[in-house]
Amino acid sequence: MILFKKAGDINTWLMKSRKAGKNIGFVPTMGALHQGHISLVQASKKAGSISVCSIFVNPAQFNDSKDFDNYPSTLEKDIDALEKAGCDILFLPSVTEMYPGGTYNAKTYNLGYLETVLEGKYRPGHFQGVCLVVHRLLNIIPADDLYLGQKDYQQCMVIKKLVEVEKMNTTIHICPTLRESGGLAMSSRNMRLTAEEKKQALKIYETLSFIKNNIKPGNLNQLKQNAVNNLAVAGFKVDYVEIADAGNLEIINEWDGHTKPVAVAAAFLGDVRLIDNLLLDAGD
Ligand code: AMP
Repeated sequence: MILFKKAGDINTWLMKSRKAGKNIGFVPTMGALHQGHISLVQASKKAGSISVCSIFVNPAQFNDSKDFDNYPSTLEKDIDALEKAGCDILFLPSVTEMYPGGTYNAKTYNLGYLETVLEGKYRPGHFQGVCLVVHRLLNIIPADDLYLGQKDYQQCMVIKKLVEVEKMNTTIHICPTLRESGGLAMSSRNMRLTAEEKKQALKIYETLSFIKNNIKPGNLNQLKQNAVNNLAVAGFKVDYVEIADAGNLEIINEWDGHTKPVAVAAAFLGDVRLIDNLLLDAGD
């Protein structure tokens, strides 16, 4: 695996590979890697691409400075895991390398409705920061294919919109959420949970599964309320549990039985905020 720290260097190297007819597959991450991240690298390898991974804890996307300060870092282990997965290139930029002019006067992106609901509503500015970093990364890394995890469902939609609005020539692949054996979605933030909290955290997946098993056409308010109560009783501070149209994330209160729904949840265990989702008409 080749490690680059400078934007100019990795760009020159990848542009050459591209000219030589190579396909470039890219997996952006914030590090503290787990098997979910590695599954994205594996998807890009399977497609026969030069697989590029980036590790950059993007300050611009943290609406909570404590969350940024406490974000886990396991760089040596990450490098080892990427080597083992056969990742070809690792990009490890500094903040000044990513944002040489700072972020104060950064571009803003028109994300419309997506920025007003769910994660957009509870984490003001978060998706602007996500767009800023992904836009910059895609300018540095000329990716043909971008691999993202369904775990961050709304983020996938936001990045799709970014690629569309900025007319970038990158195909987005959304890969399934990898889970621990009890169903807890793998997440870097899980490293901050105690053993006891990890057991409590299973309730998120159980609650989403409860929705999946009980959804019926008609009014969904009672089902959503039961789901929120489920998490509150288990000791979570709940931001939301919602059922939304999987295609555009519009909240569904009356379900027609045909619209493809997704259940989404965000809740705190102590000061660790966890998110998860489940497509309600699929096998996940
Ligand atoms: P992060 O490092 O958390 O910003 O995530 C980097 C990428 O890995 C994003 O596309 C995430 O959606 C994806 N990802 C995170 N957790 C999982 C998971 N459990 N399964 C699959 N992909 C994931």
